[in-house]
Amino acid sequence: MNCNDIIKKLRTTRNAERGELIYLLENITDGEREVLRRSAQEVAQEHFGNKIYIRGLIEISSYCKNDCLYCGIRRSNKNAVRYRLTPDEILSCCEHGYELGFCTFVLQGGEDPYYTDDLLCELIGEIKRKCPGCAVTLSLGERSYESLQRLYDAGADRYLMRHETADKAHYEKLHPKELSFENRISTLYKLKEIGYQTGAGFMVGSPYQTAATLAEDLMFIKKLQPQMCGIGPFVPHKDTVFRDEEHGGLNLTLTLLSVIRLMNPDVLLPATTALGTIDPRGRELGILHGANVVMPNLSPAAHRKDYSLYDNKICTGEEAAECLNCLKGRMRSIGYEIVKSRGDYAGV
Ligand code: SAH
Repeated sequence: MNCNDIIKKLRTTRNAERGELIYLLENITDGEREVLRRSAQEVAQEHFGNKIYIRGLIEISSYCKNDCLYCGIRRSNKNAVRYRLTPDEILSCCEHGYELGFCTFVLQGGEDPYYTDDLLCELIGEIKRKCPGCAVTLSLGERSYESLQRLYDAGADRYLMRHETADKAHYEKLHPKELSFENRISTLYKLKEIGYQTGAGFMVGSPYQTAATLAEDLMFIKKLQPQMCGIGPFVPHKDTVFRDEEHGGLNLTLTLLSVIRLMNPDVLLPATTALGTIDPRGRELGILHGANVVMPNLSPAAHRKDYSLYDNKICTGEEAAECLNCLKGRMRSIGYEIVKSRGDYAGV
């Protein structure tokens, strides 16, 4: 099979063999990528029209008890500036976002024990009271099943936790010994079982990644059937061991977005900040390759530069409203429109 045959197969059967995925990733030409892109854009438009969902991202803490080798807020980074938002500060970000028209808030942070189940349960309740009808998404890393159940019972609707890589040996090269690949994966299944709209995902171009590990990622997504899938290029951070590594490629990231769209037609797929970081039009290109979500930053401007997962992160100098207006303009420039709905997963 050549690349065009594999693209056709992806479009019609929503699947491909491991070998075909590897072949596609290693051999696709610019011309073939344009065929893939058009196909993925069509599928996205069949499901979402020209509508783009927005998620208000609130980066609640730069404290982290983990030491992931790629991440700028890993605990061993002595240069990282640490901050955490109080429940009141988080609530104000949500209320401000709600006034701007956001109906989904993503609370993301390092794994920070300050945010106990009791604190989060109360906070989730408050957000739901102050912002009626909104969806609360958590992205706080691995927690116990009991904790995830409690947060769900308190009203959390969605949980984002990238698997990072579906290859165990690769996972172990990116993470310290105390983190377990099995726990990451089983937590994702548990999230789905509890009833969360669940997001998995991975970095593109992380050190030691190969076309074979990426094929594993694509097959894992197909198997897990998450409602959301977050992918973005790896970008080095100056205070990590990977400081001298190359960032993930634009074309590879775009190819993967398109393949994910073809394999999972109704998945909620963001054009991420990291994609906007490696190319000034990265997010627009992401949408044109099949993505349908953007995540404007609602974090307090004073702390933004300190949520430094990787170098040169964009959107660190703006207020929430500016961030939203900037993205509205960007989406309009390519014929898309940001909508204010919750943007729930509509599949089965
Ligand atoms: N503690 C939470 C949130 C992590 S930050 C959790 O464990 O899920 C969100 C995502 O940023 C991570 O899942 C990772 O994929 C991404 N990230 C971290 N460091 C990065 C880097 N150097 N380049 C690109 N993405 C990075």
